[in-house]
Amino acid sequence: MSVDGPEVPARHGARRRRDASADRPAGSGDVRGVPADGVPRPAPDGSGGVAASREHLSTRTWPDLEAARGRTLVVPVGATEQHGPHLPLTVDTDIAVAVAARLAEGRDDVLVAPPVHYGASGEHQAFPGTLSIGLEVTELVLVELGRSATHTVDRVVFLSTHGGNASAVARAAARLRDEGRDARGWSPRWGGDAHAGRAETSLMLAIAPDRVRTADARPGNTGALVDLLPAMREGGVVAVSDNGILGDPTGATAAEGEALLSRAAAELGAVLDAWVPRGSRTAGEGT
Ligand SMILES: [Zn+2]
Repeated sequence: MSVDGPEVPARHGARRRRDASADRPAGSGDVRGVPADGVPRPAPDGSGGVAASREHLSTRTWPDLEAARGRTLVVPVGATEQHGPHLPLTVDTDIAVAVAARLAEGRDDVLVAPPVHYGASGEHQAFPGTLSIGLEVTELVLVELGRSATHTVDRVVFLSTHGGNASAVARAAARLRDEGRDARGWSPRWGGDAHAGRAETSLMLAIAPDRVRTADARPGNTGALVDLLPAMREGGVVAVSDNGILGDPTGATAAEGEALLSRAAAELGAVLDAWVPRGSRTAGEGT
């Protein structure tokens, strides 16, 4: 499920950029398509390259991180829950990982953490495969991760792609800031339908087309989310959609997914560029 993220003005601050091709292991290629488990796999282009970013912790050792203090750790926060009959249960995590990987291209001021695969997905519990840890535990997981991470880096951003996690992410970030740590949550805005519809299907066609069952993509409940929420609060998603979809995935394209990914990465990049270090902050920003 998508969620509206905080409105953050795109300002241009000092950004350290590097040549995206510099310092990469020989044969390494595009970071797009790094799977949800964060484990690099051979690139699908058959080049024999490894689709992993040097900014991902899966490619780093602890001595590499001794000088990581000034960098921002991006923690993809997803969920494991139904996404209709045509998309895998890991969609939210896959998308969070992909946005983080896209963000890390060409930047040397971020590090990407392995993702949080589970979140608060109680509204999907009627569908098999849903693995929810609830809001309270999600919040605690993020708080503990943030506490630990800020021993290595100055800033932590929880890149959350599951709307059900929004309040837990916001509370965790606020709690960390109250403790004097620099943390925030951020979520992409896809626009359009709410869950497993055109936006998420397009994103998955861009990220992992081999895991999209296009022939099984059918419209779900296309009503406005605001109208569906009362029934969903009572009975979960299944109360308003038999197939688990809120929206219409037909017409989704990889090109649309690519554009959404690039836009999300650019928007998050602008947030990082505009990030006022805690202590010099005059007004609360973000979640
Ligand atoms: Zn989703």
